[in-house]
Amino acid sequence: MKKHIVVIGSSNADRIMQLPHLPAVGETVTDGVYSQAWGGKGANQAVAAARAGSDVVFLNAVGADAEGVAMTQSFAADGIDTSRIVVAPDVSSGAALVLFDGEGRNYLAVAPGANYALRPEHITANAEVIQSASYVIMQMEIPVDTTLSALAMAETAGVPVLFNFAPVRTLDVPVSHAMTGLVVNENEATALTGIAVTNRVTAQTAGESLLSRGPRFVIVTLGADGAFVLDADGLREHIPAFRVTPVDTTAAGDTFCGALTVALVEGKSLADACRFASAASALSVTQAGAQSSVPYRAEIEAFLQSHN
Ligand code: ADP
Repeated sequence: MKKHIVVIGSSNADRIMQLPHLPAVGETVTDGVYSQAWGGKGANQAVAAARAGSDVVFLNAVGADAEGVAMTQSFAADGIDTSRIVVAPDVSSGAALVLFDGEGRNYLAVAPGANYALRPEHITANAEVIQSASYVIMQMEIPVDTTLSALAMAETAGVPVLFNFAPVRTLDVPVSHAMTGLVVNENEATALTGIAVTNRVTAQTAGESLLSRGPRFVIVTLGADGAFVLDADGLREHIPAFRVTPVDTTAAGDTFCGALTVALVEGKSLADACRFASAASALSVTQAGAQSSVPYRAEIEAFLQSHN
């Protein structure tokens, strides 16, 4: 029987406004251009894993509001099992406000809202679906105690965990053997190790430090410079990024994590799974938005064939 991937994490309604310039205090800037998108690292990774071809169960909390309903419908349209999504009363769905200043710079504010209503008891209530998963995917946008209880449950059950330590808002979650695979970008690797990660060499140095804390493998992603992968069996490899014309790099890392996990579940080697994930994330940077940019399996396969 085909086993499912469980994604435990956040969802956010992104409100995006392109402005001619940022308002000063008390100023009203008119002529903004507004758009709305679905984001949140957990949701992006759930969508990435589903579109890459896996059965996905998303464990998440939304508010009892229109955004919660719309996001849940959107996940269901991607074939994601939404039956475990918690509807938290008296709190808004997670939200992000994104302002662009007319010169390409963005200013972001996030209100976690319902994402912080995902509690350890929801992990316990979903023990069976977690313990029977082929893989669990997690990030750092839900409460620490919830994260720790899910990590402990997966480890006890022998279910591998792909842990994307993003964002590094606390060090209260130790990097450990409960994280089968750890994925971090340059900033996150720097925050976790104190080693300034700016290139492949420093990515490997930081990766060695993280690997020594217990994960089976560590991947440090380097944006357009690809990723450096290390594992406990001695693999040390730079995975180049595919050359594309970037439009919007939002959710590149999330697409990487979702696609990587699907490839691992399908039995690909770690290096091959990284190439599959690189192809998926390269495709995602050619499109605007978070979930709107996540590619489907057929697109990833076609891209890989045309770039071999
Ligand atoms: P994050 O979004 O978490 O900061 P990165 O920016 O490191 O993560 O991107 C994750 C992966 O996405 C990279 O390892 C690479 O494979 C791919 N990627 C990111 N930016 C580009 C780009 N400009 N061109 C091609 N691939 C990219």
